[in-house]
Parts: sequence; C-alpha cells; structure tokens
Amino acid sequence: MKALTYTEHGKFILMDKPKPELIDPRDAVVRVTLASICTSDLHIKHGSVPRAVPGITVGHEMVGIVEQVGTEVKTVRPGDRVTVNVETFCGECFFCRNGYVNNCTDENGGWALGCRIDGGQAEYVRVPYADQGLNRIPDSVSDEQALFVGDILATGFWAARISEISQEDTVLVIGAGPTGICTLLCAMLKKPKRLIVCEKDTARAGFMREHYPDVLVCAPEECEEFVRKNSDHGGADVVLEVAGAKNTFELAWKCARPNAVVTVVALYDEAQSLPLPDMYGKNLIFKTGGVDGCDCAEILELIEAGKIDTTPLITHRFALEDIERAYEVFEGRQDGVIKVAVTMCAGRQ
Ligand SMILES: [Zn+2]
Ligand SMILES: [Zn+2]
Repeated sequence: MKALTYTEHGKFILMDKPKPELIDPRDAVVRVTLASICTSDLHIKHGSVPRAVPGITVGHEMVGIVEQVGTEVKTVRPGDRVTVNVETFCGECFFCRNGYVNNCTDENGGWALGCRIDGGQAEYVRVPYADQGLNRIPDSVSDEQALFVGDILATGFWAARISEISQEDTVLVIGAGPTGICTLLCAMLKKPKRLIVCEKDTARAGFMREHYPDVLVCAPEECEEFVRKNSDHGGADVVLEVAGAKNTFELAWKCARPNAVVTVVALYDEAQSLPLPDMYGKNLIFKTGGVDGCDCAEILELIEAGKIDTTPLITHRFALEDIERAYEVFEGRQDGVIKVAVTMCAGRQ
C-alpha cells in the first residue's frame, strides 16, 4: 500500500509499504478513506517532535472503514465507518477512568499514531485499543463532516468544555486557524452572549466574517481595547488562547477580566512568562494542556444533529497521489487554505 513516510529531517516521501496487520487482540485495521494534514505533521517534518521515529507513516487525522478487528474488540465490526482518535488510550488506568485520557499511563498511551507508530496518511492503518480509538460515524454523516472529530474538533470541544462558559459571557478566542475555528464552533454550543475572535491574518479574518457573521473579529494590535469595549466587565469572561504565537499568551491574560478563566489550548515553541506581580489581584484561573479526546461519540451526535459543521474548513481536496502537493499548499498557506482533505483509497479493497 502507499504510505506517506517520515524518512529524514525535512522529508516525507510517499512510498510502498506492507499493509498493517493486527498485532494485539485489541487492535483494528482501518481502511483509510479520507485524511487531513495537521500542523503537528509539519512539526514532525521539521524535527521538532523528537519522539517521532524516522520510517513511520505520518498522519493522525482520518476517517475510514474497519477492515479487521482483533478478538477482544467489542465496539466496532468490519464494515463500520469510523473516526480515528489522535490519542491512544487504554480506558482502564486511573487517568482514563477519570476522563484524562491525554495522561493515559499505558506505555503506548498519548499521541502515538503518526508519531511513534504508523499513522493514517496511508491506505490502511492499525489502531491500538480500537474500542477507545474508534467511533462509529452515523449513516447520515459524511466522511468530510466527520474528518476532524478525532483531533482538532476533539481539541476544540475539550477546550470549550473545561472553560466554564455561561450564557452571560463574552468569550474571546485568540487565533482563527483550524483549531481556533473548531474551538469557536464548540464555544458557540454554550451560547455565550458574545464571541470575539482575534486573528492577525487578514485572509483568515475575512474567512471568519464570511462564514460566522455573528462573531466579532479584531486584529491583535487592537484586541485589548476592542475586548474592553465589547464586554460587560472590563475584559473577556473567558479567554481561549489557540494561536500559540509570540505574544498571544500575554494578550490572553491581559484581555481577561478579573476572575476570568483563561484556557491555553496552544502549543508554544518557547517557554512563556507568567508575570505574577503584574497580574496580582486579577485572580485568574488558568487551564492548560493537551486534548482529552474522550468526547468523540458526543461530537458525532452533535454533527448528526446539525449543531457542529466543520465542512467550510475544507478549502482544498486532493488525491493520495498528490499528497505532497497538498502539503505544499497547507504548509505554504497558499490560496487561502484552511484545511485540506486527501482521498486515500475510497474505491479499493
Ligand atoms: Zn493534529
Ligand atoms: Zn489509560
């Protein structure tokens, strides 16, 4: 089968590899029908994910059809259309039982697919702990509608869930990249009074205005003042920092009103400073971390009910043969791209 492979620093190559097989009775093999590219894939390409192993197949955002299951797999059967979770988790350890699946203590737990083990920018992928890692896609939901459920949409959903958003709130989302938009869509489900998005890229700000006319959009340099003017208590009641740029952490706590929740979804390249003397008396609540991707079934129900739609994010479509071109477009932010969808092996067995 064809698989996009991390061969060396800076290089992914589409090559032939053997089709994956079941290794553990809790595994499933999934025929990948549609995959996407994530910024984390670019981090692997450029060597900033040291645990990524050269030779692995990359890709951790995909949907497909179950081809084969191990003897202990209970929740999915061959033929089921499924989403694949970016996180591998056992479902049994202390952290999994409490919903903190990002901290699963299993040796294979965490972000393994397309990083430490072969991922899904390929025709087939082996998914460990299939009962946890796969969710059946309702018949009325298309592959494109479900494509982001296991990664960026799970992230946005988790971020909105932990941010204690009420209907009185002004919510600020910093960053309107793909994960920022998913976070915004999930924050919308909480029906806050106002949603403000801060985005520096004018094309992405334009995308926001076109698709989400009820959301207020501002640029970073005007953000503090804009939020003050458009909130009831001198700042945002909830801030979700999804940009991860040089000054966006500082912007996040500066735009927050006293006693606000500031949720940091972004992954930074560098350490950030927390100038406690400057924020003394502001009594902020910070929440940080990596997605606990344990809400995929609920997210699929919301998609089925028409309450979340991430399909406008798919701005470009490619075939597997053209995946290197898809990377060029995504990485170069060409042609107003937000996300790409790559068709893997829809018609083949
Ligand atoms: Zn990702
Ligand atoms: Zn676990």
